[in-house]
This record gives sequence, structure tokens and C-alpha cells, in this order.
Amino acid sequence: MYKLQCTNYKLCSRRRVSRKWSPYLYIVICTFYIVSLAGCASTQPESRTRDGLLGTVITLTLYDHAPDAVFGAMFDRIGAIEDEMSVNLADSEISAVNAAAGLKSVTVSDETFALLRAARDIAALSDGAFDPTVEPLVKLWGIGTPDAHVPLPEEIAAARALIGYRDLTLGEDNGVFLARENMGLDLGGIAKGYAGDEVLRVAREAGVQHAVLDLGGNIVVCGGRPDGKPWRIGLKNPEPGADGYFGVVSLFDGAVVTSGGYERYFIEDGVTYHHIFDPQTGYPADSGLKAVTIVDDNSTQADGLSTACFVLGLTRGMDLLGRIDGAEGVFVTDDNKVYVTPGLADRFEMTDGAYEFMQN
Ligand code: ADP
Ligand code: MG
Repeated sequence: MYKLQCTNYKLCSRRRVSRKWSPYLYIVICTFYIVSLAGCASTQPESRTRDGLLGTVITLTLYDHAPDAVFGAMFDRIGAIEDEMSVNLADSEISAVNAAAGLKSVTVSDETFALLRAARDIAALSDGAFDPTVEPLVKLWGIGTPDAHVPLPEEIAAARALIGYRDLTLGEDNGVFLARENMGLDLGGIAKGYAGDEVLRVAREAGVQHAVLDLGGNIVVCGGRPDGKPWRIGLKNPEPGADGYFGVVSLFDGAVVTSGGYERYFIEDGVTYHHIFDPQTGYPADSGLKAVTIVDDNSTQADGLSTACFVLGLTRGMDLLGRIDGAEGVFVTDDNKVYVTPGLADRFEMTDGAYEFMQN
């Protein structure tokens, strides 16, 4: 069984950089609901929301009367990760690696290096369905920007030819090298997950015992509800613009991370194009799924796997999860059938009759 290594890091101080996120990159994603907190009224939660970090809306909810400084340290940690790893910040470490593609190796921080290793491992396990070198395709399609458009087939072929995690070298002394010019890293499919692990670590070190952390729909919870029951996380109906949830996952601790085609997309000539690409085709993945949710102790792993499984589709995605220790999943097909991995069956409940629960 494979288990992703996850290392903890010291709190980084926040570098001041100008943010280049365009308003078009912001989306309010609500991929979950906290279902029924009746009986919890004795413990008033405190929430803080920030719009813009990691290009999304982040809401941290703590149930332990944490002082403002704890929220501040948590948001600072997320900001430091963005500063290092965002492909949209010209002075991030990832941008430095991309600028030196085909030319030279760039030394990065321990945590960027470790996350790149984790990303490369998931790329290898998923046979390149998840690939951290997907940046040329992301840039070409421009989904989430005002320039979003369907590229020409020859442009797609050229971008595809630049993608390949095997051409990412993670060398001595944290040196990172992309083999060919115009290759590029994009950690958009895994960095929010890593930020989830880190922000939880910061909270725990500050003594927080019960928390729900929402990083743009990537959920991390700890400690169960203050009344001793598990958190109940509703999984959003995977239709563009839809409200409500189709099922509920119960858990005390862990990450619940969803990838879907309904979050970030544009429509051209009546066709919807979303933001998760199949590196094999160069087009948005079309594997027969509306959404995949991964439940895992490790939020980094959950994030990478949600993107991978969405590209792989039901059969190959289920097979991948079966090979990875501790990773469970909920798959929603284009025809509204819901499949759940055996290890999650007793923690998942269907709540919407419009979806059909498929017994494995
Ligand atoms: P989100 O972060 O929007 O909730 P995902 O975790 O699935 O959803 O990540 C999607 C992002 O990952 C894209 O915006 C892009 O930056 C990147 N990406 C797109 N396709 C792939 C892929 N095949 N492998 C790795 N990363 C990808
Ligand atoms: Mg992901």
C-alpha cells in the first residue's frame, strides 16, 4: 500500500508581494455544507472569512474561543504558501522554476520541494492523469480569465507536447529543473490541499481542538463536533449554479476534497469547457464524471487524488484509490449515479432522490 509522506514545517514569515489575481480568477465555490449542528448551541463557533487568498474564499471556523492571533497565524500560513507556490505571482518559487525551464535548476524551499515530490508521486501513481507540469495547457485555455477560449488543435498539440512529469527533475539540495523551455509547473490541483494540512497544524499547535476549515471547497475538519458527534459534511449537487447537497459524509478528523467540472468553466457555442485537463487529450477531462470527492486524513493527498480521479473516470479512479492507503472516494457520474469506495460506505449517506446510489 502506498502512503504519501507528509512533513510538517515551521511557520514561515509572510513576504510582502503584490497580488496579481484578477477578479476573474475569484470564484465562490461552495462544495460542502455543514449539516445539522443542533445540540451544539452551547459552543458558539467563531468564523473568519478572507476572499482572495489562493484565488478563492477561505473560511476558518473554530469552536475553542481562539483569540484573533490564532486566526491571523492561520491566514498568514496560507498566504506564505501562496507566495511560494502560486503560478500567478511573478516572484513565487514556482514562477522562478518556470522562467528557468530548459535553462537551469532553481533552488526552492523545503516545503515547495516536498510538495513537488508529493505531486510527482501522484502523477506517477495516476499514470500522468494528475500532472504538475500541466501549466502550458492551463495558460493556453485561460479558463477563469477574461481570455478563456477554445484554442486551435495545433496549439493544443503544442501545449500537450510540453507536459510530462518525467521531465521534472527534483535534484540535490532542493534543485528543481524542467527539462524543456516553455514547460511550466502549476500546483493548482494540490496546493490548496497542502494549505489545508498546514493551517490545521497551526490551529492544533495553538490548542484548537474542534475546527472546520474551508479553503474554497477543500474541507479539513478536526476533533468532531463539540457535542462528541462526528462532523456531517454535505456534498454539493454537482450542477452549475445548483444549490443543496446530494449526500453527507460523517467524520471526526480529516479532509473532504472535491473536484468537479461545475466550479470553474466557460461556455462557447453551447459547449461547456471546465478547468481540469486531461493531459492525454489537451482538452477538459471528459471521463463520464460530474464530480469526485476524496476523504482522507491527508488533505494534500486528497487534493491531488481528487483531480487525478476526475481525469481517470470511475473505473480507473476506483482502482487508483484501491491502491492507496487511507484514501476513500465518492464518484458522481454524468447520469447521476453515485459510487462510494467500500471503506467509506458506512460513513456516507445519500440525501437526494435525484441521484441513484450504486451498491458496489
Ligand atoms: P479546484 O482547485 O478548482 O477545487 P482541483 O483540485 O481539481 O480543483 O484543481 C484544478 C486545478 O488544477 C486547475 O485550475 C489547474 O490549475 C490544475 N490542473 C488542471 N488539470 C490538471 C491535471 N490534469 N493535473 C494536475 N493539475 C491540473
Ligand atoms: Mg485537486
